[in-house]
Amino acid sequence: MPVLIFIPSSEVKNRQGNPLILEHERRCSRCDQSPASFFEIHRLHYRVGFKHSHLYGKKYRLSENYLLKVGVCETCFKSDFLTHPEVLDHNNSQLARISRFHSKAWTIGGLLACIGFLLLTPIIPQNGILSTIKQMWQVPVIMGVIVLFLTWLSQKKYQTKVLHEIEAANPGFQPLARAEVHTYVLRDEEDPNATALEILLDNEEWAKACANDHQWKFEQTSNPENETLSKG
Ligand SMILES: [Zn+2]
Repeated sequence: MPVLIFIPSSEVKNRQGNPLILEHERRCSRCDQSPASFFEIHRLHYRVGFKHSHLYGKKYRLSENYLLKVGVCETCFKSDFLTHPEVLDHNNSQLARISRFHSKAWTIGGLLACIGFLLLTPIIPQNGILSTIKQMWQVPVIMGVIVLFLTWLSQKKYQTKVLHEIEAANPGFQPLARAEVHTYVLRDEEDPNATALEILLDNEEWAKACANDHQWKFEQTSNPENETLSKG
């Protein structure tokens, strides 16, 4: 049965550059394989004091970014490259480097195409040298489409390669779910035990052991599709 862990605010505040790490005996949080030398990543916010009357500017009195890292084995890390390449851990592995390269290439291709279509619009005035540049709008669009197409091909090639590697090492492997997380906006910072983060893990034994290691509260839940939880 899935286990819901409640993380108090004292554990997640002042964590910029210092990730909250969930590990237990170097076992994988999803499939229990050892060693779990990789992490699944969740980029989260510690937020206090929602401003009801804000029109612009800060929405919260305090908002800090932090990382949640949950220990996983190499196979589960590889399966994330197939299912969630956009949130792969920025570690020094070859897969992470390829994923970062693809992410940059998607951005560059998209930007080039956008620049081309922007030249078509009246936002760029048709006078002087700008009119010559406007007439060349197809150049960045074509370059952008080529970059996007090559990136898509490259991503498919590496995903097929990784899928074959996973199937060769673990015949019949089915990807297991990432942790589901939900963060709370706190009213104030007075109670360090107030729950700031909930983490739902399918691996019951692992989740209970990890919560006990840190003396965090937890409860079993029979409803993994809880509507109040959002995938992170
Ligand atoms: Zn695993």
